[in-house]
This record gives sequence, structure tokens and C-alpha cells, in this order.
Amino acid sequence: MAQLSDDCFAFGGPMLSVDEAVGIIAAKVTAVQDIESVALVAADGRILARDIAAPLALPPFTNSAVDGYAVHGSDLPRGTEKTLPVKGRVAAGRAAQAAKPGEAVRIFTGAPMPEGTDTVFMQEDVRLDARGNVVLPAGLKAGANVRPAGEDIPQGQVALKAGQRLRPQDIALAAAFGLTRLDVARRIRVAVFSTGDELASPGTPRAAAQLFDSNRFMLMAMLRRLGCEVSDLGILRDERDPLATALKRVAGEHDLILTTGGVSTGEEDHVKAGVESAGRLVLWRMAIKPGRPVAMGIISGTPFIGLPGNPVASFVTFVHVVRPIVLALSGAAPAPILPMPVRAAFAYKKKSGRREYVRVTLRRAADGALEAQKFPREGAGLLSSLVDTDGLVELPEPVTSVEPGDTVGFLGYANLM
Ligand code: AMP
Ligand code: MG
Repeated sequence: MAQLSDDCFAFGGPMLSVDEAVGIIAAKVTAVQDIESVALVAADGRILARDIAAPLALPPFTNSAVDGYAVHGSDLPRGTEKTLPVKGRVAAGRAAQAAKPGEAVRIFTGAPMPEGTDTVFMQEDVRLDARGNVVLPAGLKAGANVRPAGEDIPQGQVALKAGQRLRPQDIALAAAFGLTRLDVARRIRVAVFSTGDELASPGTPRAAAQLFDSNRFMLMAMLRRLGCEVSDLGILRDERDPLATALKRVAGEHDLILTTGGVSTGEEDHVKAGVESAGRLVLWRMAIKPGRPVAMGIISGTPFIGLPGNPVASFVTFVHVVRPIVLALSGAAPAPILPMPVRAAFAYKKKSGRREYVRVTLRRAADGALEAQKFPREGAGLLSSLVDTDGLVELPEPVTSVEPGDTVGFLGYANLM
């Protein structure tokens, strides 16, 4: 388990900006050290544990980029077309015979270049005469339509870096090197609880004043997308001591404990009290909307995050606090999410000094520009506002208003987890 010091989430001042929060996380949270080897088919989304230097140049041998005719550079027609006899044929996967100057070789995409040749005429650009000789047009440069060995990646170059969250194209590169397994950081183990007497688990009876727990399932799905191994620990009742006991019990077996609900400062906010009796707690009052205070704690060396109960606040604070911690614990290189510029199709007033997120749908406007349309309502409890939209418009701290037509930064949901 990653062991963090009790005061590692402390900060000075009453309010924490999103960047300060991310900075504290980057400075204090260290990665779990365990490494495991996984087959390529199981590597998607995993965090690469060691740099990979190319054991092989890519492409491994010089080959043709097109179907056509390979020739010596010295035979390139100058001024007028030129006719060469076709001697030999080389298909992809076959060994090529050397070709003499004055000869063309029929060649196909991916086939090795015959020794001596360095240029390929595309078959569309040539014609064959009655005797089967190839007639080459003038104007092609030496080296055209050839992929030199190592042009993609030279042998020995670091091609994948430790900390890379592996994507399909990264796995393709490892396969191109002939690797079958990759060393990755072990998945971090995250314990997830919901809290609140008003919650019922789907599949159990719901009393009149209860609602079904939705946050836990949202958070578990987000954590899994980030590559975590998730323990679903159900719902904790609003009661300090059992809460403290449960938190202490899971701390030793997990790298992170995540709860939702019960962390404001009201008298019914028992998570705070529970964490305070089980370990250390700091309330992060973040300058972010939607978002309520986030409780940050350490229980027996294990980081604890208490997210707000309102689903939208829970979602947004997950992105800014849980995601960076999960990535840091997992050994992933820091991955700031860069907003994409889109045109606002809405007006909005906001407080200066606070970062705000507006739930929006993207659409193509009549002039072809991408436009963000604001979800009509703003409540932090509206799940439909997350379901019926494509992402969040991020309004930086200094902004005080948005007018239709302004350029704003858009974060698609798929990029947030
Ligand atoms: P709390 O942060 O506990 O004060 O909760 C704030 C609001 O979020 C209340 O309306 C709760 O009922 C709601 N809430 C808390 N936890 C969940 C959850 N797991 N799923 C859905 N709604 C929740
Ligand atoms: Mg509650």
C-alpha cells in the first residue's frame, strides 16, 4: 500500500483552487510500486511500468509503400519517359532478388526492396508495352514510394515511456516490436462506500423517504475506467462509530478509500466525524461549481476522499480530485485534460475567482462551427443533466460572464475518466 503522512493534504488559506488541489496531489501522492506482467490483449488502459526502447527498427527492412515497379535511382527517366524490361516479381512476405541497373522489378506494398533499387513507380502511373516492358513517366524523385528501415522508429529509441496509460495504438507498437507481454503497475485497489440513511441499494426495498443509491455505481464505473480494482462496500448508515470502524477495517487492504455523501459541515454529516476518529481529515473547500467541500483524509496511511453526495457535484469533484489521485497512485504520468475550443450558444453569469463547469450538448451550427448548448437547468442533483449532455464547458476563475458566440473550452465526458 502507498503510505502517506497524516498531514499531506493540509493547505494554507480558506479556499483551494482546482490547480492548487491538483498541485498538492502531484507533490504528495506517490505511486504504488508493485509491477505485474500482462499479455498484450490485457494491456489496454494499464499503466506502463518501464520505458520500452525499440528492440527492432520499424519498419524492420526497407520496403515498398505502393504496388508498382522498383527501379535503380540511376534509371529514373529525365525529361521523357523510359522503357525498362520487367525482371522479377516480389510480393509482401517474400524475399527479393537483387536487381541490375536497367531492370524494373514488379513489387507490391510491404514487399522488401530488391537490392540495388531505391525508387518505386506506382502501378497507376505506368503502362506496359506490347512486349511486357514497363514504360515509366519522367518526373519521379529518387527514393519515392519507399519506406526506409527505421523511418518510423530507429532501433534503440525509447518508444513508450513508463507512466503511459496504454491505448490501442501503444499496444500495437509493442506488438510491432514482437513483444508479447508488458510490465505494468498493478491495479490500485479502491474501496467505495455510499453514506446516508436515505439510500437504498438497487435490488433492495426502498422506503418512502429513500432513494436508490446512484453515486456508488457511477463512481465505481469511473474508477474501473481508470483501471482500478474496485471493492463495492455498499451503503454506510449515518452513524459515526460504525463508519469509523468500517473505514479502519478497509484501510489496510486498499490504496484509496472513496465515499460519497455526508461530508458537508451539517450535524448530519457523519463521514467527517467518522474519519476524524479513524484518522486525519482536512476539508478541501474548493473554488469550484458544481462542487461542495471534499473531505481529504489519511486513515492508517491510506488516502481517503469523501465526495459530496449530490450526483453532479460528486461527478465534477471526482474529475478534479479522485482522477489525479488515482492516476498518481497508479504511476501514470500526469495527464492534464485540455479543453477543446467550441462556440458558446448560451449566456452565463459566474463568480470571479471560482472555476465553474456548465453541462452542455455539442451540435454543429449552420456555419459549420461546433457549438455548445447549455443544459437548461442547473441543479447539482439532476442526473438527467449528466445523461442528456456530452460534456462540460470549463469556465476559468477570472471569467465573470459568457455571451453567445464566445469561445469556451469543452471537456468531453469520455476524456474525463
Ligand atoms: P449529503 O452530501 O450527504 O448531504 O447529500 C447531498 C444530497 O445528495 C442529498 O440529497 C442526498 O440524498 C444525495 N445523495 C447522497 N448520496 C447519494 C448517493 N449515493 N446517490 C444518490 N444521491 C445521493
Ligand atoms: Mg448524507
